[in-house]
Amino acid sequence: MMKINIVKPSFPDILKIQDKFDACLRSGLVTNNSINVREFESHLGAFLKMQDQPLAFCNGEMALYSLIQAWKRKLGYSFHDSFKVLVPSFTFSGTVNAIVANNLFPVFCDIDESLTINLSKIQTLDENIKMIVPVGVYGNLVDIQKVNDFAEENNLITIFDNAPAFGSKYKGNFSSFYPINEIFSFHATKVFSTMEGGMAHSPETSITEDLIISREFGQYEKTRGDISLPGLNTKMQEINAIIGNENLKDFNLILENRMKIANQYNDFFQTIEKNGNLKRMKINDNVECTYLYYPIILNEEASNFVQHMNSQGIAVRRYYTAVHTLKYYMNKYDSFNLDLTNFIKDKIVSLPIHSDMSQEEINYLFKTIQHYFNN
Ligand SMILES: *Cc1c(COP(=O)(O)O)cnc(C)c1O
Repeated sequence: MMKINIVKPSFPDILKIQDKFDACLRSGLVTNNSINVREFESHLGAFLKMQDQPLAFCNGEMALYSLIQAWKRKLGYSFHDSFKVLVPSFTFSGTVNAIVANNLFPVFCDIDESLTINLSKIQTLDENIKMIVPVGVYGNLVDIQKVNDFAEENNLITIFDNAPAFGSKYKGNFSSFYPINEIFSFHATKVFSTMEGGMAHSPETSITEDLIISREFGQYEKTRGDISLPGLNTKMQEINAIIGNENLKDFNLILENRMKIANQYNDFFQTIEKNGNLKRMKINDNVECTYLYYPIILNEEASNFVQHMNSQGIAVRRYYTAVHTLKYYMNKYDSFNLDLTNFIKDKIVSLPIHSDMSQEEINYLFKTIQHYFNN
């Protein structure tokens, strides 16, 4: 029996990073925006062809938390003030936690067949809603133009939680090429990883300046450590940047290979979809998706399928989830009609898809799935 893990992070050989890490330890400069983090930010900017300045963070959730907080300040709210934020329920809990930790109220929204936010189901907007946080689940970026138009019409700030979408493209460019407020996660489970890590960027210079200060306790000057805002320490460490710099070197090749594997998955699952056994995620218009996991929506509750896959050595994940049904969030906040979210939440399963998957592994996974539906 073959064994296929849910994710398979690719990290550089220790020999490739050992000199840099050693120099870092010897110098004592292991954090505080030292040379490797600065280099990483500059490499990210070049790789992603960014016009905004990329800012490294300790993880994706804190990048999102900090970006939301910076916009809240810019809109003139103090921490103790509040407003409402549109967010899909179908996401990772971290998205909503970052909103709530800013003393803001989530308003849960439904999704469409793309599994991303369904704008057409958001009808009359309460005047207390000031922000929208669309999520690029599984790397499926939302249509940036459509969201921007919607936000402009309704006077909302848009912050894209593209934590799982590093490497995905919109109209032929990485999403961060565009002047948007956006974050990524570089967690070990993501397609591009620094072990733990994240980044944020904004087209607003004042937001960028705010973020630079806020990730270092809010210190605007270092002599006395005076602060201009109550920032949390959310800096990236040097070791993460060293790994990021190394991983970024051949990331284009990794992406290319990953897209080929994703195409094989698409061909295979299209056939099963035609037979009526499952539904696939519809990729949004103008998007090339890197597929963080390959989600399928079964016709039934997923337990039997999960058991079948596990019994054959293939790990699968019940992911993403309907956050409004999680213990902490249950019945606490406003929501629009969440029909599709509720309909799919127990039927959706994420299959592993690795950037360096062998043909043998791919065939084994397909065969195991075929077997489930033929019985
Ligand atoms: C992974 C993920 C996060 C969390 O990122 P971390 O780097 O682990 O903090 C947040 N939101 C979404 C949608 C994610 O997929």
